Amino acid sequence: MNFFPTPYPDEVLYSTLGRYCIRSGNVREIHNFEDLFGTKNCIASLELPSKLNNLVENMPVNSPYTADGLIYNNTLFPFYASFTPPDRAEKIIESMRSGRGGDAYIRLGLVSNSITLNQYFKFCPECFKEDIEIYGEPYWHRIHQITGVFMCPKHKTPIYNSNQLIKAGNRQRFINASEENCIIEKEIEYPDENIEKMIWMAEDAEVLLNNRFGFKEQEWFKSQFRAKLIEKGYARMNNFVHQKTLRRDFIDFYSEGYLELVQSPIKDKGQNWLSSMVRNNSRITFALRYLLLARFLEIPLYTLFNEKIGFSSKENNIDSYQKLWEERLIELCQLDLSIRDIASALDSTPKTVRKAIDDLGIKPFWKYNGGGKYINKKYTATNEFRTKRKESREKWIELLAKYPDKSSNQIKGYNQALYRWLTKYDIEWLRQHSRTIQTTPTTVDWDKRDREILTKVKEVVKGMREGKPERITWTTIGSKLGISGWLSKRKDRLPLTREYIESVRENLKEFQIRKIRWAISKLEGEGREITFWNVVETAGVKPSYMKYISEEVHEILFKKGCNYSFLSILDNK
Ligand SMILES: [Zn+2]
Repeated sequence: MNFFPTPYPDEVLYSTLGRYCIRSGNVREIHNFEDLFGTKNCIASLELPSKLNNLVENMPVNSPYTADGLIYNNTLFPFYASFTPPDRAEKIIESMRSGRGGDAYIRLGLVSNSITLNQYFKFCPECFKEDIEIYGEPYWHRIHQITGVFMCPKHKTPIYNSNQLIKAGNRQRFINASEENCIIEKEIEYPDENIEKMIWMAEDAEVLLNNRFGFKEQEWFKSQFRAKLIEKGYARMNNFVHQKTLRRDFIDFYSEGYLELVQSPIKDKGQNWLSSMVRNNSRITFALRYLLLARFLEIPLYTLFNEKIGFSSKENNIDSYQKLWEERLIELCQLDLSIRDIASALDSTPKTVRKAIDDLGIKPFWKYNGGGKYINKKYTATNEFRTKRKESREKWIELLAKYPDKSSNQIKGYNQALYRWLTKYDIEWLRQHSRTIQTTPTTVDWDKRDREILTKVKEVVKGMREGKPERITWTTIGSKLGISGWLSKRKDRLPLTREYIESVRENLKEFQIRKIRWAISKLEGEGREITFWNVVETAGVKPSYMKYISEEVHEILFKKGCNYSFLSILDNK
């Protein structure tokens, strides 16, 4: 090559090479490959190109580019590889420097796993216009080509498919962005509630592209997530994860539709990617899913990669989890439970439990029952038993107090092991301390119930409208009443309640507006200035969202006779 075009900001290498081909003057496209890579034996690759050592060698003397520089600044490697362990990341870089074309894709699991990469080259119409103005030509941006990114982080507007397939027939040529292939055939409009999530994803992906956080083993991320799961009440120190609650809240948070869109739906039952991600295993999943979980758990990316979350630094997280897990295993082994029960209590597998029992040299109760440790005594005559009984009774009483409106039968679900132990060794006491709750009669008077619930719902809604705003939805109302499990499912039986809730529930936009209204009143009450930043901060609304509600905000401010400068900031947002 006797020249090499300078890559534009966030330009994907594929696009720079495409611009080389336009300018090279080569008549036959294949000659471009010889210029660039010194071989005809390679194809154009958008996400993770290879043979970059060759490319750099063929550049004009004194070119400032290195293979590693191109990998980090002009390919999708920093996104797709951000959560892979160091040794694997190194291998991927190696295959991009000098390996075969598909190696990097295979090593990243992009070939075998269930993710389907984008089919078409994508573009942001706003960026497209700006690029022509500034550089005189359009180009493919890296951030727009990431599978799962639907918004341009710069313009906060939808990204569009061009009409060019990435993997079309002839892969020995480069397709440049142009007026002909970057056409909007139909305006895209995403539902309000998805927009915020899409912008998060775009912003997070951009952070990954533009930072070199360094690579970490899976244990690091697992431990970061685990610490936050414990803090948020989704997991206990003994490695138990409340999978059901986690799954429900996660789906509530993102909505099924959005998760479907980012190829990460969560099945109702059994194994799913989310449950696998929060378990102790070293499985690596699609980078995007780490971002989903990190946002859900409110872990900023910088923290996720660089700051140990949770316990004080004196003890390594993994070690202390391991220790607690083992202590709990020993405890469970003394309860005369089957391996399967122990495994389920530990949220682990029978195989792991069996191995741990062997490793730790634990003699499970079923092994020494009738021999060994208690050779001269019955278990029930030991001090260990008496201590255990005292503790178990206390735990049971605690549970009864914690769930005053639940029956023993329901409560046992919160600690199966405890219940089994008491049934086996302390059944009389347990009978005296059990509780039955009048279950709902088979014929429910739905009309009566509807009226009762309506009254309660009205109170709850009234409460939610005072104080710091909380979004009014079926779910939030249901959970305030402790009946989120069935309220919205039975809405057909509750016509009055349904009508009322439907009339007061808010979509995301209405909710954001209410937050703004509330924030303005609050600032007024506190005698603080009503500025753009004061309002967004007090309301907890993202500055970038303001433009979607600028009309409404204008109106609120207009009625308050607010100053002009604030309005103009809004217009510029
Ligand atoms: Zn844009």
